[in-house]
Formats: sequence, C-alpha cells, structure tokens
Amino acid sequence: MQAIKIDLYSDTVTQPTLEMRKFMCQVEVGDEQKHEDPTVNLLQEMVAELLGKEAGLFLPSGTMCNQIAIKLHCSPGDEVLMHSLAHVGFSEGGALAALSGAIPTGLPGKRGIFSADQVRKAIRPINRYAPRTSVVSVEQTSNGGGGTPWSLSAIEEIAKVAREYNLVLHMDGARLFNAVVATNTPAKDFSAHFDTVWVDFSKGLGAPVGAVLAGKQELIEEAWNWKQRLGGAMRQAGIIAAGGIFALQHNIDRLAEDHENAKVLAEGLAEIPGIQLDPSEVKTNIVIFDVASTTEAMTEKVLQEGLRLSILGPNRFRAVTHMNISRQDVKEALRIIRLCSKEG
Ligand SMILES: *Cc1c(COP(=O)(O)O)cnc(C)c1O
Repeated sequence: MQAIKIDLYSDTVTQPTLEMRKFMCQVEVGDEQKHEDPTVNLLQEMVAELLGKEAGLFLPSGTMCNQIAIKLHCSPGDEVLMHSLAHVGFSEGGALAALSGAIPTGLPGKRGIFSADQVRKAIRPINRYAPRTSVVSVEQTSNGGGGTPWSLSAIEEIAKVAREYNLVLHMDGARLFNAVVATNTPAKDFSAHFDTVWVDFSKGLGAPVGAVLAGKQELIEEAWNWKQRLGGAMRQAGIIAAGGIFALQHNIDRLAEDHENAKVLAEGLAEIPGIQLDPSEVKTNIVIFDVASTTEAMTEKVLQEGLRLSILGPNRFRAVTHMNISRQDVKEALRIIRLCSKEG
C-alpha cells in the first residue's frame, strides 16, 4: 500500500503545527486535579466565557464530555432523545446504556436535524410503564448528517418544547465552531439554550487532545466527581490544554477555508459519473457521497493513489476537509476519485 498523501478520513487527523507545538512546550503547568494548572484553568475559563456558561471542565475527549453530561442528567431507566445518527447514542460503544443505564431514542430527520414537533411527539407520558424522557441532545454540527449546522431558530424551537416538559438540553458541540463560522452566529447564542455544552479541540480546531464541557458551576462541580471516577483527572495537563488555547486563538476563523474546500470537493464530485450527492447541502467541512460501485472496491483503489476516505456504508463514503488539506489536495482527490470511478 502506498503512503497516504491526502487524508480525508476525518478532521481528527490534523497534525499540530510547529507554532502550536512551540506554544504547548512553553506554558506553565501544575496539578490540574488540585486546580493548580494555570493553563488548564485558563482554557476552562476561555470556553466558559465563549459559551456564556459559569464554568468549564477540561476532559481528555469529547466522548467523556458527552457521557459525563448524560451521567449528570439521567437516572438509570431514563430516556435521551437525539437524532438516529447521533454520536452520543450510537458511536460511543453503548456508553449511554453501559455507564448511565439510559435509553437512547433516535429520531429520524433529514441530514441529522429533527424538529420540535418530533420531540413533542416522542416525549412519553409520565406513568409507571414508560421510561422517563429526561434529556434532548442536539449535535452541532451533525456529523452523520454530513456536517449540517442547526440553525438558531431550529434550536430555539426545540428548547421551547424541552422547557415546557422540564427536559434537560445537552449539546454535543464537537463541531460547534464549524456551525458558528458557517451560520455567522456567536457560539453563545447557540449554547444559551443548553444546560450542558462541550467543544472538541481535536477535530477541525487542530489540537492533538482534549475537550471542555461547560455548564452551571454546581453541575461542573458534580462533573469533577465523574472525571475523577472515570480516570479523566490528569496532572500537568496544561501541556495539552495549551493546544486548545492556541486553537481558540488561531484556528476558528480559518474553518471557513475548510468549508470552501468541502464545497469545491462536493461540486467536483457531483460532476463525476456514478457519484451521487447534492453539493448545495454541503454547509461545513463534511461531504457524504454515494458511489455506483462499492466502497469496498473503491477504497483499495483510491488508497493505491494515496487518498483515504471514510466508509459509511456499502455505497457511501464520507470525506472531511481540515487544516492539513489545501485546495490543491482537493483537486488531486477529485482526480483520483474520477480515475478510480472510471475503472468501474
Ligand atoms: C468526534 C465526535 C465525538 C467524540 O469526540 P472524541 O473527542 O473523539 O471523543 C462526539 N460527537 C461528535 C459529533 C463527534 O464528531
């Protein structure tokens, strides 16, 4: 197999730049469990401020943010409403059931978005027979839905129903900043409607590790207990938190470039015979497309040419643009896919 030259597998493959690495090795560090790491503390404050929340908690991964949040919001037997493609329910090893005893209920909806009306209809009556519907989770942007950002008005409508029924609102903000850039909406405006919200630094923001969960002070104190119990409490974690600080300072606005590149990729793909997608639906950095042949057959071929894609199904690929993908790489990826499609 040839070396991978163009990696569209995910925006998790981003390599920290030299500038980020330099910044990381210069920061002051301490024992973060004792709140003695000034860099971790600063990152937590920066995220809390950006999201308009009282406090933030640095965690090793987005998955841990999701699962600790669910833990805080649910008792065993509770039900969490989400999209049927939601990462928190269906791409985290069943953690929601394994760790919280909660039931994930997936709602259908085009490109990862569901409606307030669907939420209203899904909420179960309060009686001895039904599980208690207690949380609504929104994924901003929807990963499985092809990077679709939720509009502020769609979120407001969901929040209204959730409040009416006393449900807790959780946002999986793995790619919240992609939504911020794509919709030109401040992060705070989205997060204002949620009890818990988190952002990931290891996706398009380009840091190697980490995520911050934000919410009310009291809730974050409770989250600390779970961070400790699950082994997420670290020591001189400032060295990795620094990547997050650098990313917030330098890598948000540039996400627009990834979105432009995804658009060019989508438009190019749509012109290749046998490939199906609607480029007008590509709003951020994720491009989902179907091929006439099989992904099994295509994957090997494109890999031979140095291109890696992510397989979503027997005919479905996902390609994700990120800071290590240039416009030239997109053109080369299109050339490779065109070539490999032709071969049948
Ligand atoms: C990647 C991702 C996660 C998990 O984040 P990790 O930092 O990889 O654990 C959760 N939700 C969504 C939507 C994601 O894309």
